[in-house]
Amino acid sequence: MNVLVVGGAGYIGSHCVNQLLTAGHRPVVVDNLIFGHRDAIPAGVPFHEVNLGDRPAMVEILREEKIDIVMHFAAFAYVGESVTNPLKYYRNNVGATLELLQAMFEAGVSKFIFSSTCATFGVVEKLPITEDLPQAPINPYGQSKLDIEHVLRDLTHAHNFSAAIFRYFNAAGAAEDGSIGEDHDPETHLIPLCIDAATGARGALKVFGRDYPTPDGTCLRDYVHVDDLSRAHIAVFEKLETPRTLVDYNLGTGRPSSVLEVINAVEKVTGLKVPCDDAERREGDPPSLYADSKKAMKELNWQPKFDTIEAIVESAWGWHKDHPKGYDL
Ligand code: UDP
Repeated sequence: MNVLVVGGAGYIGSHCVNQLLTAGHRPVVVDNLIFGHRDAIPAGVPFHEVNLGDRPAMVEILREEKIDIVMHFAAFAYVGESVTNPLKYYRNNVGATLELLQAMFEAGVSKFIFSSTCATFGVVEKLPITEDLPQAPINPYGQSKLDIEHVLRDLTHAHNFSAAIFRYFNAAGAAEDGSIGEDHDPETHLIPLCIDAATGARGALKVFGRDYPTPDGTCLRDYVHVDDLSRAHIAVFEKLETPRTLVDYNLGTGRPSSVLEVINAVEKVTGLKVPCDDAERREGDPPSLYADSKKAMKELNWQPKFDTIEAIVESAWGWHKDHPKGYDL
């Protein structure tokens, strides 16, 4: 398959490019390099430095590269920023995505895979989170993703168009060969921050709240390896062969880890101490979030290969220890 990976120079997109190559497909990357890294794209993979909202340019790429499937990873994803600057999030995550979908219609490309998020569920009343729970996001980031989910529902109803929606839990880890990994600016994610605190690349880790109603008082999250996420995107190809199909899957391991468990795993894997300070709860953090991924397991025959927090941290460490400044060596 010729697969257009929009946001293919970013964290999850670049790992998906790797997995597509491994599976024998032909990835083509589009990225505007605002958050993406040129060095995350393997040599030989066609790359177009274009904004996904640039419809004429996207139509040309879709036609010239004879694209069969579009995967869309390019989005702004800072929850706090989405609250203070919602228009930025709706313009990019919704507005530009609509342009991309329009470009696909103009170019006659009818298969789409969309990166969504567990943030579309908002505050859940039931755990683990199954696909059929009500979706009520509590911030513009989650809402912007849910808006596109609704657009996809309507498009697959109205047209010979098929789409898959993946809702990620906490994407983590790095390529097993240590060639690519996580490099966000600013970095807000727990595992890279723990590793940086351990190596001294940053100051002590702030533990956001130790008074949550969880076994050790810190938040529980479902950390899922980025290569496992990527493999699900390829496993769904067959489903998209049937026009007017819409499928949705929550992707996590179903085994949550607390902040303190992540810190312990980082200490165990690195052999270094993670200096920590207690801090106030971070606004908007629910106590506990974890996935029920049985649907993906059953329908896609998907199984996370990285099934412990130590294995995930180990792969993250493989990247960070050789790239302490990420892609800026
Ligand atoms: N967290 C923390 N200190 C940090 C960053 C994160 O205690 O410096 C906690 C955060 O409160 C949450 C968990 O780690 O409970 C995972 O946060 P992250 O930002 O990695 O992902 P999120 O779950 O917010 O998508």
